[in-house]
Amino acid sequence: MNRSERKSGIFVAPGDLLGVIEEFTPGPGTYVEHGTIHSKITGRTLLDMLNKKVSVYPLVRVASVPQIGSMVSGQVLDMKGKKAVLRITQIGQRSLSGFFTGILHISEASAGYVDTMSSVCKTGDIMRAKVISDKNRTFYLSTTEKDLGVIHALCSRCGHSLQQGKRGMQCSRCGNIERRKVSADYGKGAAYEEEK
Ligand SMILES: [Zn+2]
Repeated sequence: MNRSERKSGIFVAPGDLLGVIEEFTPGPGTYVEHGTIHSKITGRTLLDMLNKKVSVYPLVRVASVPQIGSMVSGQVLDMKGKKAVLRITQIGQRSLSGFFTGILHISEASAGYVDTMSSVCKTGDIMRAKVISDKNRTFYLSTTEKDLGVIHALCSRCGHSLQQGKRGMQCSRCGNIERRKVSADYGKGAAYEEEK
């Protein structure tokens, strides 16, 4: 922390400089090296100005496992008959450090009748879905609701992003037209952020 940022609630990582021992007493979550105080952990600072003490409190980690009812997003890895296999990398807006496998069955893909899974999604697409059940850390998904479905589709001929057009999902590069079960906000901005 530089002098102007010395306040509580600053996000710090291990080794970050918090101050010098002439101005602060090192509190929990800190260590002293050559007269300077550093953070021992990843967390947020707490400055006790009365006692001139600096501490770092660990960030509380929220369980990053999808639950039944969770909104998740991820990429379609594979299509197997009436099922799509997804790599779930995000719960809500939060990116996961690992990933989970999700299965979307054709009967849970759309509120209306769908004849073939390839009119729902294709390999490489990004989808938003709701978790409806889980078994051995495989999550069964549904995209029947309006705001669920494909949020980013790729042309199966050339790999370019598809845009919603009058006749279906259209590729602006090669002119290919495809079908998808898209979410209501398809193409309207930051629906999905790449995992960092
Ligand atoms: Zn194309």
